[in-house]
Amino acid sequence: MNSAPRCGYVAIVGRPNVGKSTILNRCIGQKISITSRKPQTTRFSLQGIYTEKHNQLIFVDTPGWQRKPTKRLNRMMNKEIDHALEEVDSIVMVAEARRWLPEDDAVAALIQRAQCPKVLVLNKHDRVQKKDDLLPIIQSVADTYDFHDILPTNALQGDNIDDLLVILENLAPEREHVFAEEELTNKPVKFLVAEMLREKLMRSLGDELPYAISVVIDKFEETDTMDFINATIWIERPAQKGIVIGKQGARLKSMASAARQDMEKLLDKRVHLETWVKLRPNWSDDLVALNELDFKT
Ligand code: GDP
Ligand code: MG
Repeated sequence: MNSAPRCGYVAIVGRPNVGKSTILNRCIGQKISITSRKPQTTRFSLQGIYTEKHNQLIFVDTPGWQRKPTKRLNRMMNKEIDHALEEVDSIVMVAEARRWLPEDDAVAALIQRAQCPKVLVLNKHDRVQKKDDLLPIIQSVADTYDFHDILPTNALQGDNIDDLLVILENLAPEREHVFAEEELTNKPVKFLVAEMLREKLMRSLGDELPYAISVVIDKFEETDTMDFINATIWIERPAQKGIVIGKQGARLKSMASAARQDMEKLLDKRVHLETWVKLRPNWSDDLVALNELDFKT
């Protein structure tokens, strides 16, 4: 058996809400990317690292690709995706098993430009009533596009994720590992912690709030027994304050408590979390503000 080290970069692409972040978390075996029913939850490219013996896969989770970028924030997200596609060794395109939409064609066409092998994952297989219904979709996609493999998954349960990992390991080039075995992500803990709170906001607020909301960690103080974290939730309009905070602060309290529990799992320590809600008008169209918030152009 060949045991030379392999290390491959893998881009995960697909329209919003198909389950990219859930698949990434499954592959890594730990929650590092936030998920929600609301499209566009993932705003940054995040690298998740999987290492199993001599194989290492570095996943790049990209924000949902926008066909018609309107705001500056969306244009930046598209740029990140184009950039990700140039540098990877394989591409996982995620779509839904129960339906193939025009947006999926747009994504499939976009990635055909890349030279590397592409794997199509038809996720949410559990949502397909008659499993035979899947075959015509697979057939027509396989006739139209060049996919190295096509496989159905149920990322919530983890079905077929092992098969996906084997396919990707075999596509990874022989190369020294980039990360140490225990590393799970390239992002600092501070970032993951901010994302955990942002996830609760996205989930709880649903359509009441646009995704122009951001979380910044102002303080992260570690002690032996407990971590002390202060977070600011930046909103765009005064009216959003009441929505975020809720009646007598109840909503913010329950979101913060859920986020704190995620943080405690990640840090394996008790966490004291304090949150503030502050107003920053029109930040999603404001380049200076974007740069302050760590967006790259
Ligand atoms: P992304 O926008 O592509 O990153 O999608 P997410 O990973 O955030 O997932 C979007 C929603 O689909 C979340 O509510 C997930 O819990 C849900 N989801 C992901 N995978 C599956 C699956 O295999 N089956 C079902 N039923 N739901 C899923
Ligand atoms: Mg996502």
